[in-house]
Amino acid sequence: MKQKKVAIIGAGIVGLACAWHVQQSGHKVVLIDPDPKADKASYGNAGGIAVTEIVPASTPGVFLKIPKWLLDPLGPLSLRWAHAPKLIPWMIRFSKVSTHSEMQRLASALSALNARTYDDLTPLLENTGLSDKLYNYGALTVYETEAAFDADAAEWDLKRKHGIECVPMSGDEARQLEPALGAVVKKAMFTPQWSQVSDPIEIHNGILETVLRLGATVIRGSGKRITTTQTGLQIECDAGKRVEADQIVIAAGAWSKSLAATIGDRVLLESERGYNTTIAAPGIDVTREIIFAERKFVATPLSTGLRIGGAAEFGGLSSVANHKRTDALVRLAKRYLPDLDDSQGEKWSGHRPATPDSLPVIGRSPNVPNVIHAFGHGHLGLTQAATTGRLVADIIDEKPPHIDLTPYRIERF
Ligand SMILES: Cc1cc2nc3c(=O)[nH]c(=O)nc-3n(C[C@H](O)[C@H](O)[C@H](O)COP(=O)(O)OP(=O)(O)OC[C@H]3O[C@@H](n4cnc5c(N)ncnc54)[C@H](O)[C@@H]3O)c2cc1C
Repeated sequence: MKQKKVAIIGAGIVGLACAWHVQQSGHKVVLIDPDPKADKASYGNAGGIAVTEIVPASTPGVFLKIPKWLLDPLGPLSLRWAHAPKLIPWMIRFSKVSTHSEMQRLASALSALNARTYDDLTPLLENTGLSDKLYNYGALTVYETEAAFDADAAEWDLKRKHGIECVPMSGDEARQLEPALGAVVKKAMFTPQWSQVSDPIEIHNGILETVLRLGATVIRGSGKRITTTQTGLQIECDAGKRVEADQIVIAAGAWSKSLAATIGDRVLLESERGYNTTIAAPGIDVTREIIFAERKFVATPLSTGLRIGGAAEFGGLSSVANHKRTDALVRLAKRYLPDLDDSQGEKWSGHRPATPDSLPVIGRSPNVPNVIHAFGHGHLGLTQAATTGRLVADIIDEKPPHIDLTPYRIERF
């Protein structure tokens, strides 16, 4: 097969996983990023290999909950009102897919991707010497009331339908698994297939080092525009830099929309900012990721400490972080983990690339077929990066993909 020069715009976890898989297919990789080691969603996320998360955000009853969430200034969902007009097309699409039948369709599409996670992630971690950074202790979703547990029954049934193991537990059984949990926890669901990494930064930097060792080059700059030339494609970057390539992958996370627009591809993509605090000395032992169901946030034990985070803030890419949200999550965590020592902690926030249907955008551009989209992974970019990389490599080689790519195509917008 002829070796191709593949330029990948964006060196987050998705761009790097694409780079590694494309290199395995024998192609030459150029990574374009202003700073491949800069802080971004791939650096500070919760580290969950959340293969069990196949229910889209747009569940049928969600619109009834949104007003209550928005009225709570530090609740799980917030909106910067100045950004609201720009969000309207995204919200309209979100409302259109919040039906029962759409939830089933989107869950099948998320499940198809997540079911491949370990097949594609395991060789990537082995080759990059990172296998010992993946732990499988499952995850524990905890509830304060039986009523809230029962209200989620349909979602747990949907997960079971897709082969996800869900083990219901009483509060006491949950405390046997995680003794730091307080009496406030009355019910729980254990999902053993969930894994986590020691620290997302270690995974990101480990893959970066490997793809560089395998011959990838890095152009430090922002891709501004993609144009076609007589011989192929060209990316115009800032400071007048130009990069020529046979194939281009757009993997710039929440920043991908404007790049796709330069080739006439329209996408509904928003920044969904998340917040967290990493407490190096939390004073308690937590073994696995704990998901606080009613309050929609998580606590993950990482090599750097206990990371407490979540929240979904729609305010655009240039808004300033509101770390009152970070503090609020730590206060909430103490409700569930009463002995948590929150006297110190490092605050962080990052932009999830969010589509209204919770599906990533993966596939060739209909306008410029040698451009491939690989972005929009929302809450699941770490989980789905390796599979996205594998799919992108297959698209480049014109091999039949392992899963039907129709649900992820950009044409859906
Ligand atoms: C609080 C929080 C917790 C999360 N927890 C989890 C979790 O537990 N599990 C999970 O699977 N996912 C999780 N996620 C989601 C996950 O972090 C993201 O989906 C994922 O990191 C997105 O990766 P990416 O490579 O697409 O984007 P990014 O990590 O944002 O990387 C994009 C890259 O593109 C570069 N770039 C931008 N514009 C340009 C340009 N014009 N030219 C060149 N380069 C450009 C940026 O510099 C950046 O390096 C979480 C996210 C948040 C915020």
